[in-house]
Amino acid sequence: MTRLLLIGPPGAGKGTQAARLAEAFDVPAVSTGDIFRANLKNGTELGLEAKKFMDAGEYVPDSLTNAIVHDRLQEVDAAGGFLLDGYPRTTEQVHELDRLLLADGTALDAVVQIVADTDEVVARLLKRAAEQGRADDTVEVIRHRMDIYEQQTAPLTEVYGSRGLVVTVDGLGPVDEVTDRILVGLAARGLHAVRPVEAS
Ligand code: AMP
Repeated sequence: MTRLLLIGPPGAGKGTQAARLAEAFDVPAVSTGDIFRANLKNGTELGLEAKKFMDAGEYVPDSLTNAIVHDRLQEVDAAGGFLLDGYPRTTEQVHELDRLLLADGTALDAVVQIVADTDEVVARLLKRAAEQGRADDTVEVIRHRMDIYEQQTAPLTEVYGSRGLVVTVDGLGPVDEVTDRILVGLAARGLHAVRPVEAS
């Protein structure tokens, strides 16, 4: 019964760690970005609505985002815990998640914050952009995205930090090592993995 939240900058391997942590704690990884993308792909009404904002590089409105998280966390597989990735992103979403969990008589157990040296992350993202032929991902664009990430994350880490929930982990280094750091940080708070994670 572990309820986790994962926060991390673009390019710090957050998606990979999310999958590994979900496996370790035997909980579903719930990514709002993935849910929106799946709806887009399937051409649902939700997908069409979300597309307007996603295409413009903007946040999908809280009302819509909160509703999908509400529905997702009601599903049976999330009853025994979950790992949220990419939500909450705004203070209003933090409050909505609080209300949601309170209504169930539960609460978050920990917030894992992956941190990484900005220059290193920019270098990684540039390399990825070159490999994938994404010429529009220039240093400026990437740095701007990192700045936005920092501005947007600050209020979240502040509120969860004041609740003593944040476990900060250095995201640079081999994938297995980063996972180990996270697991050690969580174990120190009494949150123990229920399954071993396979080495990458
Ligand atoms: P991500 O893959 O997490 O970067 O999400 C992709 C896109 O989905 C974002 O750029 C937003 O448009 C939208 N999105 C994902 N999560 C949220 C959220 N918590 N609040 C608002 N929009 C979101």
